[in-house]
Amino acid sequence: MSGPGIHLPAAEAFELTWRGEVALLQPPGWQASGVVAAVSTRIGGVSEGAYRAMNPSLSSGDDPARVEENRRRLVLAIGASGWPVATAHQVHGKAVHVVATPPELAWGQGISPRADALVTALPGVLLALVVADCVPILLRAPAGRGVAVVHAGWRGSAAGVTEAAVRELCRLTGAAADDLEAAIGPAIGPGCYPVGPEVRQEILLNHPWALAETADGRLDLPTLQRKILEREGLKPKSVLTSGLCTRCWPDLLFSYRRDGRASGRMAAIIGLEKQE
Ligand SMILES: [Zn+2]
Repeated sequence: MSGPGIHLPAAEAFELTWRGEVALLQPPGWQASGVVAAVSTRIGGVSEGAYRAMNPSLSSGDDPARVEENRRRLVLAIGASGWPVATAHQVHGKAVHVVATPPELAWGQGISPRADALVTALPGVLLALVVADCVPILLRAPAGRGVAVVHAGWRGSAAGVTEAAVRELCRLTGAAADDLEAAIGPAIGPGCYPVGPEVRQEILLNHPWALAETADGRLDLPTLQRKILEREGLKPKSVLTSGLCTRCWPDLLFSYRRDGRASGRMAAIIGLEKQE
C-alpha cells in the first residue's frame, strides 16, 4: 500500500510500509526472516509543530506524553508490542554496548549506557537509537544469531563506530563479516552537507582512503558508511542504502540541519523474533 502524497523513487532500497497510520522505512525481506527492523518516518505520531508527528525522542524538547504515545505506536507498528526496548545515551563516540540481559520493559526506562551502537543476540528485545541527518545503520547476522544498530554522524564515523559494531556483532555471534547484512537508512546526502576542512581531516585520519567522500567541502556520509562496511568484509550486495536525504524529504523525515535542534528525530529499531 502506498501512502498519501509520499512516493519514493523506485530505485530506493528501503520499502515504505504502512501499519495503520504509521509509515515505516524497512529493508525488504528482513521482517519475513525473523528480524524486525525499521527506521521510523514523521508519519503516524501525535507530536506537533517541529516535532510533527512521529517523534520518539525525549532529548530535543518535545512533550514527554506525546513522545510516550509515539513510542507505543512505533513498537506496535513494528510488530513488537510488549518487547523491552534498549536505548543508549548517544554521544557521537565509538562505544558499542552489548545488551546481554533484557532491559527495563518500557522504552526510556532504566539507565541508558553512553554508546552509539547497540548489539544483541537476545530474541524478543528491541534496540533503538534516534537520528536526524546522522546515518542509522541496521546490521544482522545470519540465522537469527544477532543484530545491531549504529548511529553514525561525522564524529562517530571518524571515530570508527561502525567498524566497532561490526566486530562486536561478529564476536558475539561467531559470524564472519562477509555473512552480515547491513541497511543504511536515510541520512543527510552529500548535496546537502557542506563541511569545513577540519571535518575532512578528522575523517581521513582513520579513513585515509575516503578522498572522494570528503571532496569539495562536502561529506557523503552514506557512501562513506557503505565503504566502511565493505572494507570490514561485508559483501557489496549485502549492503542496502536507502538513498533518501533527510533534508530533501520534509514531509517524510526530520532533519537537524533543516529544522534545528528543537525538532523531531527518527528511530532506527531492530530486534530478533522470539523462536517459538
Ligand atoms: Zn538533500
